[in-house]
Amino acid sequence: MRFKFLCLAAFLLLIGSLLFSGCGKKSSQTNDVAPKQNAVKSATIAASFYPMYIFTLNIVKDIPNVNVINMTKPTTGCLHDYTVTPDDMKNLEGAKFLVINGAGMESFMDKVIQQFPHLKIIDASKGIPLIKGEGDECDNPHLWVSISNAIVQVKNIGNQLAALDPGNAARYKENTDAYIKKLEAEREKMHQALDGIQNRNIITFHEAFPYFAKEFNLNIAGVIEREPGSEPRPKELDDTIKKVNQLKVKALFAEPQYPAKAADIIAKETGAKIYTLDPAVTGPMDADAYINIMDSNLKTLEEALK
Ligand SMILES: [Zn+2]
Repeated sequence: MRFKFLCLAAFLLLIGSLLFSGCGKKSSQTNDVAPKQNAVKSATIAASFYPMYIFTLNIVKDIPNVNVINMTKPTTGCLHDYTVTPDDMKNLEGAKFLVINGAGMESFMDKVIQQFPHLKIIDASKGIPLIKGEGDECDNPHLWVSISNAIVQVKNIGNQLAALDPGNAARYKENTDAYIKKLEAEREKMHQALDGIQNRNIITFHEAFPYFAKEFNLNIAGVIEREPGSEPRPKELDDTIKKVNQLKVKALFAEPQYPAKAADIIAKETGAKIYTLDPAVTGPMDADAYINIMDSNLKTLEEALK
């Protein structure tokens, strides 16, 4: 509670300082204002986590006075059960727009967002059909792992930015179209390489890959570990081992962000090999990162399933 109050107080102070500088007060007064704020460009766009950051980076590119930041640390990974840190709050204070994946990935932020009424939310999930989680779980939020979904997300972000920042609308559109062309080329390349593969059964770690698997017509025969920290029970492990043997699954796909202990056990019991598929939730802060990650996923799949 006390923390929230402090954040609110800091926010009101910030608004106050912006109002002052906007009213033409001269430098003697603005010098008292936190110097950090002078560095904030005219529009800062925060992205909730890594893939949204990479997409937005491509849409903004070198538009003058528009700045893209990642709200969370690039090593954060998926935002399941995430708690907003004071650093994240600071990032939001300076931002005009917040790009979210949507589909429930950022539901933990509902209360936080209320503290920043000036923040315009850009939901990248609009119009994307969601895959239900298993049992009574919520919809699966890992939309961006499918390139087709990524293309829709990039369109959504580009369109909403153009509407909210009309002065730069033409630039957003131009950059969005150019990035979509690159994504379409990558998707085409992956289809060419993967469409003819016979053995399409794969086993993955946590539920990041249903949209990706659907896109490339792969069959997820089992999920080893649902979320970070939830180790599979012996019975689940047993069932997975049976499935791997029955379906002659040759490859287990771990993820770089998760320990591969359970996969190790299954590999030992079945002779299947462990490979790493990357759901693009961490990586370099570089505009080409998402496409590079998909490219290396393609190489892995070709090697594992050939
Ligand atoms: Zn996840």
